[in-house]
Amino acid sequence: MLRHEIERHSLPNTMLLYGPDGSGKFLTSLELTRVVSCVENGKAGCNCASCYGTKRLISNDLFIICKSNLRNSFDLWRKYGVSEKNVTHFVCDLRRLAICFSFEEHTRREISELEEFLGVSNDVLNRYDELMDLVYRLLDLSEIKIITIDMIRAAQRFLSLRSGLGKYRVLIIDGAENMNEEAQNSFLKISEDTPEGALIVLTASSKDLLRSTIVSRCRVYRFTTLKKEDQRAIIEEKYHPELLDTTYASLESVMYDPLIMRDYFEKLASNVTNLEIMNEVVDTVTTNGHTTGFLDYVLDQLRERVEILCNRSVEEIYDYENLMNKISFARRSILYSNANRESTLIDFLLHNMKDVVKYC
Ligand SMILES: [Zn+2]
Repeated sequence: MLRHEIERHSLPNTMLLYGPDGSGKFLTSLELTRVVSCVENGKAGCNCASCYGTKRLISNDLFIICKSNLRNSFDLWRKYGVSEKNVTHFVCDLRRLAICFSFEEHTRREISELEEFLGVSNDVLNRYDELMDLVYRLLDLSEIKIITIDMIRAAQRFLSLRSGLGKYRVLIIDGAENMNEEAQNSFLKISEDTPEGALIVLTASSKDLLRSTIVSRCRVYRFTTLKKEDQRAIIEEKYHPELLDTTYASLESVMYDPLIMRDYFEKLASNVTNLEIMNEVVDTVTTNGHTTGFLDYVLDQLRERVEILCNRSVEEIYDYENLMNKISFARRSILYSNANRESTLIDFLLHNMKDVVKYC
């Protein structure tokens, strides 16, 4: 559908792509940017200066604000590894991660370390383990994701410049639902007065999380959870997994289905103290290979409720962050060490499910 609109030159200047994690919203917005900014014919595989820059997220005509969840993506890199063949995709994810933190003071040191890796392309492959340690340190450092007015103002300055190489200046706000009140207000002003030659693409997990006045400014595209075959095709294309057949079974735990997870979650949440039901759910979750997917779902649920923290005490905010860290830790020990999934999950739920329910 999008391709059709590009060909007919009927693209709107503000668009919203919404749908669950892993449904390809960011990749689509990037491909859209590439096609509209290409200085040749926009064909797939084009390697003109503009396409080269867009694919690597280094184009001067592209400004990205990113507050989406990149953990799943890096889990897949850890699982499948990086080689000469797919290093470009990997570097793109690393840049996206750096962008996530570009406005945050407390991670300045880690980000400049990451930039150093990105500056020397051989380092990415040769010092992979060291790099991944850094990546996970960053992912753990900030589970709270808010897009502030400062970021929107920086985007506004970018849009007011004249485009460089390409025909368009593109602003992508990835995870737009994380804009706070002020940021949404400020964004609304930009979208009412988008300069000529500017294209704004928002991605969000749900359109209900954005103010209706913003949604009404956008042409809206809905993304659905990918079918297993499509997930597999994307993973093959991006990660080139050599051992795909033997590891495919665990894919579902990485790209979780929110509807299935919600059932597990609701059952647990309404029976927090019932051990029998807890065991029953844990059994289903682990048998179906949904262990880390379930913990991701819990993390996402908590993240979505971050706004309630505004009215809470410092102690409660500290408890919340602590809880997020515990979940990340449980999920990492399940994924990367040989910890027993079932006992780790039971242990986590026994000690923390009450706290989780308190925030949800
Ligand atoms: Zn091109």
